[in-house]
Amino acid sequence: MRIDAVGLTAFVRDIFIREGCSEGEAERIGRFLVAANLTGHDSHGVIRVPRYVSWLREGELVADQTPEIALDGGAFALVDAKYGFGQTAAPFATDLGIARAKEHGVSVIALRHAGHIGRIGEWAERAAAAGLVSTHYVNVAGSLLVAPFGSVERRFSTNPFAAGFPVPGASPIILDFATSAVAEGKVLVASQGGKPLPGDVLIEPDGRLSADPATLYGPLVGLDRDNQKGAGAIRAFGEHKGSGLSLMCELLAGALTGSGTAGPGPRRVCNGMLSLYLTPEAFGARDDIAAEARAYLDFFKTARPTPGGEVLLPGEPERRMRSLRGAEGVPLPEPVWATLLAAGRPHGLDGNAYRA
Ligand code: NAD
Repeated sequence: MRIDAVGLTAFVRDIFIREGCSEGEAERIGRFLVAANLTGHDSHGVIRVPRYVSWLREGELVADQTPEIALDGGAFALVDAKYGFGQTAAPFATDLGIARAKEHGVSVIALRHAGHIGRIGEWAERAAAAGLVSTHYVNVAGSLLVAPFGSVERRFSTNPFAAGFPVPGASPIILDFATSAVAEGKVLVASQGGKPLPGDVLIEPDGRLSADPATLYGPLVGLDRDNQKGAGAIRAFGEHKGSGLSLMCELLAGALTGSGTAGPGPRRVCNGMLSLYLTPEAFGARDDIAAEARAYLDFFKTARPTPGGEVLLPGEPERRMRSLRGAEGVPLPEPVWATLLAAGRPHGLDGNAYRA
C-alpha cells in the first residue's frame, strides 16, 4: 500500500497524542519518522511506531522531557535528554550546536540518554541548512547487536556515523550510515516482508554467514521481533576499519558523553551522540571554500562509471527518493501497515481514514 506523507504524519501524531505525548512532541515524532521514510530509509521510519509505544508504556521512554544542558562550556555543552524522545532531544542538541558554532566558530555537543534519534542524516541536514559542516558519532547503550571484526559474538550496537557539508549554490553532501553491514531496522524490514537482506550481512555462532533475519530474532513467529532472541549477530561493515569506527562510536558517544556503552551487562537503552559543528567562515572566505568544494564535486561526478553504474554523491539517493515519494506517497509493506493500524485501534483511530 501507499500513503501520502501528510496523512501518515497525522496518523502517527494522533497515535502519540493518545499515548500521552504533547501535540508538539507527537507532531515531531510523526514528522521525523515519515521524513526517514521519504528518504528511503524505511528502517528508521514509521516501522518504529509499535516499539516506541511499548517503550513509552514500559517507562523506557518518557513523554515530553525537556532536555537539560547539564554542562556548559560555551563552545562545548553536554545535553541530557533524560530518556525523553529522540525527536525532541536531537533537534534541541542540533540547534544548540548550530547556535554555539555561529557564536564561537566551532562547537562540540555531547548528547546523552536520548530515546531513539532515528536517521542521523536528519541532524546533519539540519546543520547544513544553517550553513554548517558537522560530524556525528552515535551509539546505543544497552543494545548488543553487532559482532566486531574477527568475532561471532555481539559487542556493539549498529552505531551510525554521519557528516554534512553545505555547498552554497548546490545540495549539501550528507553521508550517513550504520557501522554495521546493515542497520538493524533493515533486518526488521526484511523480517516483515520488506526488501530481503544481502547474503553476508549476518553471522551465525559457528561463523557461517547468513541473510536470514532469524539469525538476529530467532524463529519468526507473528510480527513481534526481539533482537535479543537470535543466536547470531549482524556483522560490522568494512572489515577491521568499520569495526574500528564502531568502537570509536562506543567510546565517543557512549563513554565520553556519559550515555553508556553497549555493554557489558544490562543497561537502559538510549542513544548517545557526540557532534562537532564547524562554521566555514571561521576557516576562510565562504565563497572560496564553496568554489573549491563545487569544483571538486564536479570533478568527482565526472569519474567514469563502472558498466551500468552511476557515480552518486552522498545524500543524492535520499534526495531522489524524497522527491519521488513526496509525489507518489510512502510505500509500506502490508504487515507494517497492519502494525500501525493495530497501534491506532485501541484509541479509536482508523488509519485508513488518513489515506484519503
Ligand atoms: P546505507 O547503507 O543506505 O548508506 C546510506 C549512505 O550512503 C547515505 O549517505 C547515502 O547518501 C549514501 N549512498 C547510498 N548509496 C550510494 C551510492 N550509490 N553512491 C554514493 N553514496 C551512496 O545506510 P545504513 O547503514 O543502512 O543506515 C540507514 C540509516 O540508519 C541511517 O540514516 C542511520 O543514521 C540510521 N541508523 C540510526 C541508528 C540509531 O541508533 N539512531 C542506528 C543505526 C542506523
